Amino acid sequence: MARSIYFFGAGQADGDAQQKDLLGGKGAGLAEMTRLGIPVPPGFTITTEVCNAYYAAGKALPAGVEGEIDAAIGRLESLLDARFGSADAPLLVSVRSGARASMPGMMDTILNLGMNDEIAAGLARRTGSERFALDAYRRFILTYSDIVLGVPRDRFEEALGLARRDAAARLGVDATRLNSAELERKVPDSLLDPGSLAALIQRQKEIVLGATGNPFPDDPRAQLGGAIRAVFDSWNNHRAQVYRKMHDIPHAWGTACNVQAMVFGNLGDDSGTGVAFTRDPSTGERRFYGEWLPNAQGEDVVAGVRTPHPLSRSGSGGGATSGGGDDADDASSLEARMPEAYAQLAAVQARLEQHFRDMQDLEFTIQRGELFLLQCRTGKRTGRAAVRIAVEMAREGLISQREAILRVDPGSIDQLLHPSIDEGAPKRLLARGLPASPGAATGQVVFSADEAERRAGQGKAVILVRSETSPEDIHGMKAARGVLTARGGMTSHAAVVARGMGKSCVAGCSAISVSQGQMAVTIYDDHGHATGSITVKAGDLITLDGGTGRVYLGAVPTVPAALSGEFEELMGWADAVRRLRVRSNADTPHDARTARNFGAEGIGLCRTEHMFFDEERIHAMREMILADGEAGRRRALAKLLPFQRGDFLGVFREMAGLPVTIRLLDPPLHEFLPQDEAQLEQLSKAVGVSAKELRRKSQELAEYNPMLGHRGCRLAITSPEIYEMQARAILEAACEVAAAGIEVEPEIMIPLSMTRRELAITRALVEGVAEQVFAEKGRRVDVRFGTMIELPRAAIVAGELAEEAEFFSFGTNDLTQTTLGISRDDAGRFLGAYVEAGIFAKDPFQSLDVPGVGALVELARDRGRAARPGLKLGICGEHGGDPSSIGFFERAGLDYVSCSPFRVPVARLAAAQAALTAESARGPRATD
Ligand code: ADP
Ligand code: MG
Ligand code: MG
Repeated sequence: MARSIYFFGAGQADGDAQQKDLLGGKGAGLAEMTRLGIPVPPGFTITTEVCNAYYAAGKALPAGVEGEIDAAIGRLESLLDARFGSADAPLLVSVRSGARASMPGMMDTILNLGMNDEIAAGLARRTGSERFALDAYRRFILTYSDIVLGVPRDRFEEALGLARRDAAARLGVDATRLNSAELERKVPDSLLDPGSLAALIQRQKEIVLGATGNPFPDDPRAQLGGAIRAVFDSWNNHRAQVYRKMHDIPHAWGTACNVQAMVFGNLGDDSGTGVAFTRDPSTGERRFYGEWLPNAQGEDVVAGVRTPHPLSRSGSGGGATSGGGDDADDASSLEARMPEAYAQLAAVQARLEQHFRDMQDLEFTIQRGELFLLQCRTGKRTGRAAVRIAVEMAREGLISQREAILRVDPGSIDQLLHPSIDEGAPKRLLARGLPASPGAATGQVVFSADEAERRAGQGKAVILVRSETSPEDIHGMKAARGVLTARGGMTSHAAVVARGMGKSCVAGCSAISVSQGQMAVTIYDDHGHATGSITVKAGDLITLDGGTGRVYLGAVPTVPAALSGEFEELMGWADAVRRLRVRSNADTPHDARTARNFGAEGIGLCRTEHMFFDEERIHAMREMILADGEAGRRRALAKLLPFQRGDFLGVFREMAGLPVTIRLLDPPLHEFLPQDEAQLEQLSKAVGVSAKELRRKSQELAEYNPMLGHRGCRLAITSPEIYEMQARAILEAACEVAAAGIEVEPEIMIPLSMTRRELAITRALVEGVAEQVFAEKGRRVDVRFGTMIELPRAAIVAGELAEEAEFFSFGTNDLTQTTLGISRDDAGRFLGAYVEAGIFAKDPFQSLDVPGVGALVELARDRGRAARPGLKLGICGEHGGDPSSIGFFERAGLDYVSCSPFRVPVARLAAAQAALTAESARGPRATD
């Protein structure tokens, strides 16, 4: 192993921004800011390699690392003219986790480390504030006990309550009838006086002794060793593991550990701490944006315990429409309270954004008027913000259009395409909070993460309501449709995590208070006077509008998304560089229109079976299935023909000028028969067949394994009249639309074929019908004939199939099932375990199994194109809308992907990124 420790301080750093893998994002950012001459408290980073070695050795630090730590502490001491473990000139440090990818709040950080009774007294002398020193000390004991010694925080709640009552007595506040929340409001931490703090510290130590059997460690070196280990251990805590799985962060990365000299934002009213974004992370607006708290330590802002103040006066800071701010906000803004520190911070943020060429998320602390930066990283943002920031940065010339395309995660733009609250609909406004993460969400109220997970598991939509969220709630946030918190600001845990997940979130909704399994909502009139209150219980429905911060009672209707100009612009750039065409899977004129509005360039899969489930049609369908001979079947099919023709007319009109691939009937026929006795009786009456006979017929059609049974083109081999009717409906509709002067491009697709002969038979059938229809209508339309490739045999004999088929469309859902021999409907029981055990990196039904299924796609491509040059190739499975699978389809040289209408923009962007990535893999360009 190379060096274990990278030092930063006084304008020099061993590491830099390029070394995220080794130093973690936080360590690399601290090193880079130090190099840029930005004020950063000095410190050092213990590398991710040390973390991995620590785990490899069964949780032991590798030999030599302790010595390097001592040496680095020595460097810190001489730089700061202070000593670690000394009471005269105490050096306190923070010990901070920080992985390669940002995992906000998932791992542990300990502040104010290096304290004992004497050092606390020394700190009081040095700073002239006993209250401050004791407050730092008791906070340190609290977090250290929780994180390192495993004594949970809530064990100390009571002690803190006692200290508050203590202080209340001294302040002359009557606290006897207050509950703990009210007490905290009356006697916040800042009012705890030295006497109550000293007593609190004693009680905390007793609690530790009682819980662990050992006294709280007094030796700063031992504290440091314990904290470093705990930071490495936190890489593996439950919430970090959940977070990694959700964001595909490999376990093998490990975390770095940063040890950094403390600066204090809680040294009085000339101190403070905050979080800033160089652009608005929710909307993407270009304005310096953030929050701060006077006289507070960093964690206070993120923990959401106090609701923070804005950094800028409203209307200042670059953006014209910052909105929201009022006079009280203006007066408490950092800009108003500490203009010099604010100006310095504003300059630093501009410089950092220019330097990193992306939106930055900053953490800062002001110690007695002096500004320090404690973190910078690429800021998390909503899909909406990602699009706006990328496009505006490209317009500003900060990045190229190509970079802008690559900047936006295609998965995240999904959020933009989804519906929002229908402003015109009647609704009852309950309360207003901060618009922390946009999107509309309706669900049943739940008050705990476990409950959220449980009810979501039962298929319920839930809204997680908490006073504030903590990293332990991550699984509940994942399960919920939206998150509502009573406390915390725009940068609170709930807000940050929800934005990362693309979930609706309303934070800091102070009108609500949550306790004992219900939520009380205070109702205010227009003048802000409380006029009453309502209680909302678990299971009640509410609706959040994360874009405005409004909370409504009940379910509120939504309206389709309106796409922004920036979005259209980015999509335009993407369309100009992508090679893959993007079509949509659409079965109805309505879906076809949606798809076209989202930029679909045709329909890649129009399923005909859904068309048969309508009330009026299912009868004819059942009649057809139940008919005893061909004549009976034809009579029933004749009733279906006009319906089918009507469906295709609508779809062709919507897709004027674009290809429409129609798949002939695919599912086994028993899917259309009634599933229960009541329906069966009803059908019996309607068609005049005895219920007994119906039951017999239904049993006769039942299959052991319908997926591999009598379905797809196998239906046409035994009952050709079904496909005949469908072909006729398609061609009659095509002729009719063409007659109206609308360009039409029908493509008839045969499902589940595996032999040339199946295609030869069905093709002859389609061509026969076509000639008849053309003669009847007195006009011809171009129609292409092709097949799906969804069986391994089909891929293997693709050369033969291509003799008959003019196009292939890979049906990757079935092709995955049949290649893996895994039924998608039964996979739920074990696929999770397969992913967990690392057998599959991802669910192969979501993200294409490239080595297996992908190899068959390539085989079919090669054999098919060898037999028929110019053979058109597409894909219409779920994978057509999955960005990483699209990467493969680009490399495989397919002509198009087809996905559901809402995924079309995602696929367009992913296809553009795939093209750019493939291009840069082929060789560097002269210019970007
Ligand atoms: P996270 O990764 O959860 O953001 P951090 O390591 O950034 O955790 O620490 C949390 C907070 O503690 C930060 O917001 C920062 O303000 C504060 N903090 C960390 N180190 C120091 C320090 N050396 N001096 C003052 N505050 C610190
Ligand atoms: Mg942390
Ligand atoms: Mg941080």
